[in-house]
Amino acid sequence: MKKAFITGITGQDGSWLAKYLIQKNYKVYGGMRRTSTVNLWRLDFLDIRNKVELVEFDLLDYSNVFNTIKTLRPDEFYNLAAQSFVGTSFKQPISTSMIDGMGVAYILDALHTIAPETKFYQASTSEMYGKVRDIPQKESTPFHPRSPYGCAKVYAHWMTVNYRESYDMFATSGILFNHESELRGPEFVTRKITINVAGWKMGKKEPLELGNLDSERDWGYAKEYVEGMHLMLQADKPDTFVLATGQKTKIRTFAEKAFHAIDRGIVWEGSGEDEKGYDAKTRELLVKINPKFYRPAEVDLLIGDASKAKEVLGWSYKTGIEELTQIMVKSDINLLA
Ligand code: NDP
Ligand code: GDP
Repeated sequence: MKKAFITGITGQDGSWLAKYLIQKNYKVYGGMRRTSTVNLWRLDFLDIRNKVELVEFDLLDYSNVFNTIKTLRPDEFYNLAAQSFVGTSFKQPISTSMIDGMGVAYILDALHTIAPETKFYQASTSEMYGKVRDIPQKESTPFHPRSPYGCAKVYAHWMTVNYRESYDMFATSGILFNHESELRGPEFVTRKITINVAGWKMGKKEPLELGNLDSERDWGYAKEYVEGMHLMLQADKPDTFVLATGQKTKIRTFAEKAFHAIDRGIVWEGSGEDEKGYDAKTRELLVKINPKFYRPAEVDLLIGDASKAKEVLGWSYKTGIEELTQIMVKSDINLLA
């Protein structure tokens, strides 16, 4: 039985990956940091809480990182732990840099010292492209991060490449474009929208407050992206791979699709901070702007080219934006029912 260790097991991708690896007959260990309130709702949602072995793990504690690796000696190590929210990274740039950047150096150093045969996956991100230099973005596109989160992830990506090149370690970096699901954190814009839309469906009529409606993202389904992570560690050699759909959608279009899923149309009126979205039939106020959700520096457009993953790994996305929106809205309605 192969052993996998997943950091960030309580997060969106950690839980989907754990479920996937359990189905593949792996022994799955999950790193979980001590919090004052236990946070296992995603593992419960997927009904796998008792099928993973949870171990105390905090990326910021080198002795904890070292001893966990020494004790478990996993065949595959998936580093999914991060302060993953761009907005928060502007408010907490130092802790974000420590977790998302330095934390990865801790893991790589510990693996190099005591378990160099372990295959390592680093959760890199399209946010590294930031102010994009190519459209679409691929593995060779230069980085220009636009947030402390993006900067820390660039450091972690290059450390992964550096350990691969310096020590011949199987260290792979997956540059994943945004991927969402029923388990997405509620602070991310897609889930924030689908939770609000579910509220409208169930009679809780609160206008949705958003920031920039015109940025564009390449959104895929997280459940499929974790399969790509696993494929990357089964490849002949360590490398860097982009996972994306190659389709882009504006925030306002995602909101329209989500309201459409409960049979409401939006008409937009006004501009800038005064723009508002009304129900096309009832004229109820559905969406308004709250500038507090604007970011100090924005990433206007992300759209990825995943042809290398298709060619080398045989991976490509299946669920498009329409279906993804339906899945998320339906799930949030069920959670409220
Ligand atoms: P989540 O925010 O849902 O999960 C992050 C996880 O990291 C949580 O389990 C969290 O634990 C854990 N964590 C945070 N800090 C620490 C720490 N100091 N020590 C140990 N664990 C910690 O993120 P996702 O699942 O969406 O993303 C997974 C990874 O992929 C992240 O690295 C993210 O940056 C990256 N990524 C995500 C994309 C996406 O669209 N989802 C796109 C590209 C990259 P706790 O529950 O205690 O907070
Ligand atoms: P990100 O791509 O990792 O930053 O994912 P998010 O879901 O947090 O943000 C995606 C885009 O939506 C960014 O361009 C945000 O500026 C934009 N956005 C607009 N309104 C909101 C909002 O209310 N919350 C969030 N999280 N993002 C918003």
